[in-house]
Amino acid sequence: MRASRMNLATLREDPAEAEIASHRLLTRAGYLHKSGAGLYLYQPLLKRVIDRIARIVAEEISRAGGLEITMPILQEQELWEKSGRWAQYQASRTMLTVKDRNGQLFGLAPTAEEVVTDYAAAVVKSYKQLPACFFQQNTKFRDEIRPRFGLMRVKEFIMMDAYSFHASPDCLDKTYEAMRVAYLRAFARLGLTAFAVEADTGAIGGTGSHEFMVAAEVGEDAIIYNPASGYAANVERATGIVPKAGAWSAPAAAQLTLTPKVGTIADVMAFLQGNGFADVKAEHSLKCVLFVLTVKTDKGEKQIRTAAFVRGDRDVNEVKLGNAVARGARGALLDLRPMHPDEVRAATGAEPGFAGPGEGLTVDFCYIDQSLKEAGPLVAGANKTDHHLVGFVIERDAKVQFRWEDLVRTRAGDLDQRGGVLAERRGIEVGHIFKLGTKYSAAMKAEFLGPDQKLHPFVMGCYGIGTSRVAAAAVEQHNDGDGLRWPVSIAPYHCVVVPAGKPGDTAIEQAAQEIYGKLTKAGIDVVLDDRDAKPGVKFKDWDLVGIPLRVVCGRGIAEGKVEFKIRGGESKDVPVADAAATVIEAYLKAIETLENAADAVT
Ligand code: ATP
Ligand code: MG
Repeated sequence: MRASRMNLATLREDPAEAEIASHRLLTRAGYLHKSGAGLYLYQPLLKRVIDRIARIVAEEISRAGGLEITMPILQEQELWEKSGRWAQYQASRTMLTVKDRNGQLFGLAPTAEEVVTDYAAAVVKSYKQLPACFFQQNTKFRDEIRPRFGLMRVKEFIMMDAYSFHASPDCLDKTYEAMRVAYLRAFARLGLTAFAVEADTGAIGGTGSHEFMVAAEVGEDAIIYNPASGYAANVERATGIVPKAGAWSAPAAAQLTLTPKVGTIADVMAFLQGNGFADVKAEHSLKCVLFVLTVKTDKGEKQIRTAAFVRGDRDVNEVKLGNAVARGARGALLDLRPMHPDEVRAATGAEPGFAGPGEGLTVDFCYIDQSLKEAGPLVAGANKTDHHLVGFVIERDAKVQFRWEDLVRTRAGDLDQRGGVLAERRGIEVGHIFKLGTKYSAAMKAEFLGPDQKLHPFVMGCYGIGTSRVAAAAVEQHNDGDGLRWPVSIAPYHCVVVPAGKPGDTAIEQAAQEIYGKLTKAGIDVVLDDRDAKPGVKFKDWDLVGIPLRVVCGRGIAEGKVEFKIRGGESKDVPVADAAATVIEAYLKAIETLENAADAVT
């Protein structure tokens, strides 16, 4: 490729709205073009990167037994009604919908369990055809609340989605494990350091799941982990042991105490400390959060007014709470929102801020975090404006029916059940695998004929990799002050040859041309920078664009030498005649390193 024909669109300035390196650099280096709010056009350079990522991912999924297909992006409402998810995706407003000329509604694929389950039911009839696995790399749409960070979170993106079908849970387990390995192999070949963490199953559902994370400060996910035990989980799912609170001088019986004009737990504590309870702390109090959850059950949609209590210095994990309520109501969670002030007054008979599990709380479900079992005396809201109960013992003084549940957001410093202490860091979710079981096949009557001559629903798994998000994650992991530093496996071009002489220096131009020709012939994706620009400008551009290998033909040509440089390394002189071989060797070595990392996956 000749640089003069590439329409290179590098920018001098960082785009104003770009908050993270990948968004900033992909825009500046001419990969990403903003086409609308949260909508991006992939420029020629990015298209090449995404295609390379897609190919490596497809190779690894195929190696694990996947067959590539293409499913429609327009999905009939009727199919989603069969699985029962239409209402769920409408309630969360995740799915974008369109109407055709006849008024029929379609969803724009946010995922494709329904479509593929319907397909499998049509083509897989007998246990003899199982296991079967289908996958695609296609556009997905999600009406995200907050699209941001360039390619990281967009309304329209490319996802590899795979779906496996089995006769038994044991067979699913084997494919699930093969997919875990396929993912780690793919990420290794892509030059990404990724690791698996336990995850919540969310709107996809099922019995178990893992996410694949790329460690990055800018990641939107929090991961709780312990290197000593090997435990790692998304905070949405993470569990730990909350260290016990210290003792304090509490009254022997719950004491109704005036706490006027206090807003937060910190206010309540400050007030009590100054009014006779000098050593009380937030960890001795009960925090109440009041939610309204909408759950879809067999009998229709239900609104469930819920009170959740955690220790005063901790937070409620809303994912755990949503799961607990859905379990309790035997339905699927459609929505979760904090109660409005009027609803709080109706549930507690008091202004917001004074709810407690004593007399006067009326809700449908009440959960108390299990870490508060035998917590001893606490400070609880009295369900009376401007009053708290000081010395409230849950087991003795609770007047509402409640259940112990794991509700607390686990954090660094909590104890690992396997021993040791938990830590926290941030990550970018690049992939996710789920054991679905028969959730979709049972609902959609997708069945196969077993050896017993009876019909059975498929046991299913599903697997997603954010192909386009991977490109952004790769940039987060590989960049420096000069620009991008693509791993060679996904760089848009492997090498650039830069003639750096005075215009009309034919010896230099001929040498560059020759090296370019040899590399092209050898199958290296190479750019010849034939632009009429100063060498310094050219070097800056290619460092920004992130081409891994560079050959500069300059003054050294007189002595038969060119400069060879690996992006980020030192440049060295090589004989003109060896230039192409040096590039090829460096390319093969870099690919081999990545392949070896993939082969080391266990
Ligand atoms: P997130 O928690 O980041 O919203 P998710 O859990 O909803 O993602 P999945 O349903 O697991 O996403 O989708 C599979 C993969 O698709 C994710 O691991 C991620 O890499 C990618 N992905 C999901 N949503 C987006 C998005 N809005 N923009 C870009 N990639 C996305
Ligand atoms: Mg996910």
